[in-house]
Amino acid sequence: MARELNEVGVVGLGTMGAGITEVLARAGLRVTAVEVNDEALARGRGHLEHSTDRAVSRGKLEAGERDEIFERIRFSTSLEDLASAELVIEAIPERMELKAEIFAALDKICPPDTILATNTSSLSVTELSVVTGRPSKVIGMHFFNPAPVMKLVEVVQTVVTEPEVVADVEALAERLGKVDVTIGDRAGFIANALLFGYLNHAVSMFENRYASREDIDAAMRLGCGLPMGPLALMDLIGIDTAYEILDTMYKQSRNRLHAPSPIIKQMMTAGLLGRKSGRGFYTYAERDSAQVVPDAATPSAEGATAGARDVRAVGVVGSGTMATGIIEVFAKGGYDVRFVARAPEKVEAVQKALAKSLEKQVQRGRLEESARDEVLARVSGTTSLDELADRDLIVEAVVESLPVKEALFANLGELAKPGAVLATTTSSLPVIECAKASGRPADVVGMHFFNPAQVMKLVEVVSTISTAPDVAATAHAVSLALGKHPVSCTDRAGFIVNALLFPYLNDAVKMLEAHYATADDIDAAMKVGCGYPMGPFELLDVVGLDVSLAIERELYIEFREPGFAPAPLLEHLVTAGYLGRKTGRGFRDYASR
Ligand code: NAD
Repeated sequence: MARELNEVGVVGLGTMGAGITEVLARAGLRVTAVEVNDEALARGRGHLEHSTDRAVSRGKLEAGERDEIFERIRFSTSLEDLASAELVIEAIPERMELKAEIFAALDKICPPDTILATNTSSLSVTELSVVTGRPSKVIGMHFFNPAPVMKLVEVVQTVVTEPEVVADVEALAERLGKVDVTIGDRAGFIANALLFGYLNHAVSMFENRYASREDIDAAMRLGCGLPMGPLALMDLIGIDTAYEILDTMYKQSRNRLHAPSPIIKQMMTAGLLGRKSGRGFYTYAERDSAQVVPDAATPSAEGATAGARDVRAVGVVGSGTMATGIIEVFAKGGYDVRFVARAPEKVEAVQKALAKSLEKQVQRGRLEESARDEVLARVSGTTSLDELADRDLIVEAVVESLPVKEALFANLGELAKPGAVLATTTSSLPVIECAKASGRPADVVGMHFFNPAQVMKLVEVVSTISTAPDVAATAHAVSLALGKHPVSCTDRAGFIVNALLFPYLNDAVKMLEAHYATADDIDAAMKVGCGYPMGPFELLDVVGLDVSLAIERELYIEFREPGFAPAPLLEHLVTAGYLGRKTGRGFRDYASR
């Protein structure tokens, strides 16, 4: 039976320690919270007051309960006050020498059976354990930020951690209302090992001016359903903490994807530590505030649409899922839409699918019958590409094949009227190839919609080196008119979303392949620890393993980045025909479900 821990200590009341103290005291434990000096202690207490006051004002906590929480917390600047603690959780800065000093001190102060836990994100728990005379009582208890909200706790056992200690800590995690996964001692554990490669990559995109901070963040929120964009998340984590985590991970993995992007060190040196210092990638109203205030880097509202060409009549080429969705989006956005399919049956099928989709919206009370009729009246179908000659904008959404798209753009280049904008919805082919084939590259732009186009708000507007500024501006303006959120990027494999998403999915496969954790634990860690709508294996099975592998190969070939090389396990599953949900088996077996 696990021991019930009631008397606990927390060392360090920064971003994490204050949150951990709140979680423990809320669950009824008595907590001694220790900081370095009175000033830091007051600040830590302030974090707790702010957080609990907010919970009260939102009706999530009674005022009386808040007072009881504070009665259970003893604030102190002396480690000696931890002499009767059954468990101490350390949450001081991510530096081995500092943590080792605290552990050595705690080892002297606390009774021999006190469990010493670290909230480290990346440092070796084993290395820390051996500075004490009780390595078997040392464990990792890795909470997520903000600790009161995020439900995951990674319990990190070393090769010498006693099973009883693991059981006690697991039982505590459960009592705190958390979901725990227990794993071995490896830099980054599950969640950070997968998260930080992605965050670092997003930072390097920003640093290389591939896209703006706002666009990178919006792309990942709207394209992947993440609760926060990567740069906003870096600011929440703290730039110094992020640097230390990446640096430790790099030293252990020697994986270049973990080598901190140079700008992170520069920001750290300059004191731009994120929310906790009031400025990081974004500028905040004050220290510890979540409120972003505009600064010199904030794009102007008009900037991206300046000089946009006038668009009324739109042509769409294609008859698949994407084309049908896009036709509906444009028609609902008030544009006159003419689409081209390869055969009369396909024209009819699109019209039927469109009518059905609109009908469903009428039945659900989301669309008036009259509006449905107006939308349908704006759409006409044909099998002749020549009928697109009068269109202001032509959007291509045919099969993802370069020869097919090249042939199409060669035709469109000839038949489209002067001044027409030609857009490709490709998600993986170079837009410049379409541009070149058209013979009028300045008019060609990428408009990457996400599936289902009717629902997903993101459009990646992709400019090649030849795209005229007013053509990109037109794609922006049209996307806005459709109620979408356009982001700008240039013509590189994966654009923003896929370039950030697929290496992360690949890393998850490599982690599974290395037998570090199970697919269930990895999925749980990303969902519960990082708020992802789906775990990486769930997502791979939905997207399709073959599709994922193809995208990963493209990224690898374009960037020649060793870390992007597709995981052999993914290749093997694809070879075996396990392609995900569509074949009933991928990383999981769906046949019996
Ligand atoms: P932070 O800089 O916000 O807070 C650290 C606190 O420790 C500061 O308040 C500092 O005054 C205090 N401190 C320093 N030396 C001390 C000492 N000798 N005794 C008592 N207090 C001392 O850092 P943070 O982001 O809260 O990170 C703390 C730990 O939690 C790190 O190991 C980090 O890797 C880990 N962690 C961070 C996050 C995150 O998102 N920030 C998430 C999970 C885990």
